[in-house]
Amino acid sequence: MDPITWELFDRQVAECRLCPLCERILHKVPGQGDRNSPLMLIGEGPGQVEDEQGLAFVGPAGQLLTRMLEAIGLPRDRVYICNVVKCRPPGNRVPAPEEAEACRIHLRMQTYLVRPKVIVLLGSTAAKYLLNPEIRITRERGIWTERKGIWMMPTYHPSALLRDASKKPEAWEDMKSLRAKLQELGLYRDLYGSGEETGPRTEGSNPGLPH
Ligand code: SF4
Repeated sequence: MDPITWELFDRQVAECRLCPLCERILHKVPGQGDRNSPLMLIGEGPGQVEDEQGLAFVGPAGQLLTRMLEAIGLPRDRVYICNVVKCRPPGNRVPAPEEAEACRIHLRMQTYLVRPKVIVLLGSTAAKYLLNPEIRITRERGIWTERKGIWMMPTYHPSALLRDASKKPEAWEDMKSLRAKLQELGLYRDLYGSGEETGPRTEGSNPGLPH
């Protein structure tokens, strides 16, 4: 068996035809970011802009996610970002269970290679497939669970925040909780590299999530 490497992962995703989602796409969207990051963010699936560019979270929801990370002092290029499925579901529908199940092989390999210490699950699809099939995101967002040494927290998908701004205060609580977890685990230095540890901005300078 081939050793598990990023080269194998890239080739496996590029050649994958395990489910019908690949039949009407422009590009596969494997995920991108810092492959050595202690923090991994996992969403549902690529949207139109992501499909066009082959990059995860680059559309309006992705731009909001970037601002959310910046609001707790995290540069987006220091985290790793991907989705449950690597091909865009038609019309941005929720991936079918068999599609998410087929794509699990790639997500497993990705998680093995990144070896994150903290995973944020963006939206109910990611939370259902990685944490609990019965999860209700409105009730259980913001709750931390440890699995095999990895801390996981579900929160709203940024596209849900774009649709319903009333969810933003809860999402901001979750971002503050993420910041606290990274501090508690001593991961800020990892995320900022070997340079001076700047740490998160203070509460006063970040009154809430950006618009
Ligand atoms: S969604 Fe995943 S499993 Fe389905 S074809 Fe694309 S890469 Fe393969």
